[in-house]
Amino acid sequence: MKIIRDPHEMQQTALTLRDKAIRIGLVPTMGAFHDGHVSLMRRAKQENDVCVVSLFVNPLQFNDPADLERYPRNEAADLDIARSVGVDILFTPSVAAMYPPDAQTFVEVTRVSQPLCGGRRPGHFRGVATVVAKLFMITLPRRAYFGLKDYQQCRVVAQMARDLYFPPDLVFCPTVREPDGLAMSSRNVRLTPEDRRAAVALPRALELAQDCFAAGETDPTAIQTRVRERLATEPRARIEYVEVVDAQTLEPITAIVQPALVAAAVWFGDVRLIDSLVLTPPRPEPEPPAPDPPDISEVPQRPAPRA
Ligand code: AMP
Repeated sequence: MKIIRDPHEMQQTALTLRDKAIRIGLVPTMGAFHDGHVSLMRRAKQENDVCVVSLFVNPLQFNDPADLERYPRNEAADLDIARSVGVDILFTPSVAAMYPPDAQTFVEVTRVSQPLCGGRRPGHFRGVATVVAKLFMITLPRRAYFGLKDYQQCRVVAQMARDLYFPPDLVFCPTVREPDGLAMSSRNVRLTPEDRRAAVALPRALELAQDCFAAGETDPTAIQTRVRERLATEPRARIEYVEVVDAQTLEPITAIVQPALVAAAVWFGDVRLIDSLVLTPPRPEPEPPAPDPPDISEVPQRPAPRA
């Protein structure tokens, strides 16, 4: 595995590969790898000629300096994991290289960045969009892989790529979970043992949303209330938000008649966890085909009356 730290060197390498029609699959990450990351890496490796993983804890997407400070970092372990998966290039630039002091260009995706996490973490998605745009231009991928664990991030990146005509195909991958259902996250290692046990309340509450919907509930407020009530049974959980919104626009809805996202951010101690799931209404049964019109060749023909 080649380790590249300089963005110019990474871009030159990507250009050389592209000239030889070698397809790059990019997995942007902030490190502290777990099986969620590994699932993206494996997929990028399978579907492309070269797998590039970027490892960069992006300061621009942290609205809280303390959160950036305590974000888990373990480069040595990450290198071992990436090597064992067969990653070809690990791109791990410095903050100074990605954001030189004279940098003046940022990417802002408006509407879809505003609800859910966007409203609570000002500037977060501007940071995400900016770093992903830079990573696309530096690594020139044919495909880029993102986890649906960060659902709103997927929507923001998809909107940016569409608005700015970014060429890579975007591949959104399912959330990998611990055996008890907790979504894997780099932040999980910071949970105390008690909070780790309590955190299972989050996937359980989302499962309840799924059950209510399966039982015929289509009122987003009713589902939201049930999820909140379920979370409230766990005294260690502090709800930041629970919302049911349109899965495409992330805007409020009054009934679930098309795919809806149930999204939650919940604190356990000083660790903020997010999780979500999409509720998809069944497609309406297709109308039975209209009976065939009578075959007019079988209708006895009367001779036309003489004029
Ligand atoms: P991060 O390092 O947390 O920025 O995550 C890097 C990529 O891995 C993002 O596209 C995440 O959505 C994705 N990811 C994180 N956790 C999971 C998970 N549990 N399952 C699938 N993908 C994930």
